[in-house]
Amino acid sequence: MEQEKGLLIVLSGPSGVGKGTVRKAVFSETDVNFEYSISATSRPMRPGEVDGIDYFFKTRQQFEKMIKNEELLEYTEYVGNYYGTPVNYVQDTLEKGKDVFLEIEVEGAKQVRKKFPDGLFIFLIPPSLSELEKRIKTRGTETDDLIKNRMSIAREELKMMNLYDYVIENDRVENAVEKIKSIVIAEHCRRSRVEKRIKKLLGVD
Ligand code: 5GP
Repeated sequence: MEQEKGLLIVLSGPSGVGKGTVRKAVFSETDVNFEYSISATSRPMRPGEVDGIDYFFKTRQQFEKMIKNEELLEYTEYVGNYYGTPVNYVQDTLEKGKDVFLEIEVEGAKQVRKKFPDGLFIFLIPPSLSELEKRIKTRGTETDDLIKNRMSIAREELKMMNLYDYVIENDRVENAVEKIKSIVIAEHCRRSRVEKRIKKLLGVD
């Protein structure tokens, strides 16, 4: 019988929200069954990073060759460096029936949504929204300019949110991790997914 495909999980969010920290915390758990897709990047290696574990570190030239050869599921240039997801690993792992987890910035997530509309897209937001509410309620302690500035940032984040299925406020890393794990479990129980499996089993269209 044909193997059921795994789920493509995409964690994204505005820059500086702590995606990397949350992702590392997810993978330090012993009860997660998703596979992390290691990205390629042209940015220099930071102290403590290991090639092939944190990223596949490439020169700009090597990266551009990967683009040309269509080896990337998505890619973007972020703060002057290329970042991208090697497509073969994602496809092979999903084919094996395993879930794949991407932690990427928002431009890349947009590209993935187009190619994998059935993926599970999770948007991480900073706790600034609840903070904003609190501050607005206690006006007087903040200058109007500061509140206006926070509101315009929040509006931009709201626009980006459009593309996603779930939103998690990154108040505490442990909470965000628990929520991600729960969302993945729930997603596997989604009727449309279960139905597809059962129909296949029963030979019903
Ligand atoms: P850093 O240089 O701090 O490791 O990562 C910078 C940003 O690049 C982070 O927001 C991270 O989520 C994003 N990123 C890492 N890998 C990829 C990737 O393969 N594709 C895209 N689009 N963004 C990535």
